Amino acid sequence: MEEVERLIEKLKKYRERIERPLTKKKVKLKERYTITGDIISYKICPRQYGLYKFYGFSPSNPTQEWYGSIIHRLLKRLHTTYRIEKRIVKDEREIEKLFNLIEISMESEGRRASSPKAREKALQVIITFCKKYGEELIPKIKEAELRLLKEMDNYILYGIVDAVLNNEEYEIWDYKGMERPDPKKPSGKKKIELYKKQLFVYGYLFKERNGNYPKKGVLMFLNELLKEKGEPFLEIEFDRKETIREVEDFIREFSEIVREIEKSKEENRWELPKEIDEKVCKQCDFKFDCERFRNSL
Ligand code: SF4
Repeated sequence: MEEVERLIEKLKKYRERIERPLTKKKVKLKERYTITGDIISYKICPRQYGLYKFYGFSPSNPTQEWYGSIIHRLLKRLHTTYRIEKRIVKDEREIEKLFNLIEISMESEGRRASSPKAREKALQVIITFCKKYGEELIPKIKEAELRLLKEMDNYILYGIVDAVLNNEEYEIWDYKGMERPDPKKPSGKKKIELYKKQLFVYGYLFKERNGNYPKKGVLMFLNELLKEKGEPFLEIEFDRKETIREVEDFIREFSEIVREIEKSKEENRWELPKEIDEKVCKQCDFKFDCERFRNSL
């Protein structure tokens, strides 16, 4: 090992002395792409994606994602407590104490709740989760926030699965800090389709790592827990041939979108979307100099 390091050091010095690279061949580093951070964002609006990702502008309202983040962090913490102490946290005061600790650590990152109401809602969601599902779900969690990746031809496919459950067979779970979208509305239907695709990607990555697809993928819409007749679960079965075909088709589509993004990067060209939900534009940091937004006024 030391010999290799010495050789690398010598090559480095030699390169500095001759003042040019040792090879003319350009090595292109593969970039990491995720379904939520890249593919969905780019599909919603390439211009907005480019301004955030390519130019590195920070969102002006980081509180928007505070809600989902604190819920995810607290759920992970509850799982860790179970693994270490073999007990499920159910006491409201203890949950609130953990919530406060996570909140402080998020404040140090400059992330705060948008309002006391949002803060209270996040806390109530976790308390209800522990009461209704803690005993049943937490002991079955084998991994929380499992990071999965696969090296594809020209990029790295990456994803973080919120929880892998061993329920006789493996299940992958994704928590959503929101209500279940209404499939009767076009925007709700579209969101559900996108979230299913997120599970397709995680199922595929899981199979690449473990050799088999999980039995199913579950989306849990946590705000439904606060409703009297909420429907928090949406599932997809990976043991259906039709699902596997859809997964494989989507992985091909994913690679195609990555190619589009890389082309946009090379040409530094970030188009406006053909269609977009007005709500997205209203919350967009770049609406004031956006032709699409101005034309919609
Ligand atoms: S205002 Fe709408 S169309 Fe314009 S960049 Fe923002 S999201 Fe895209």
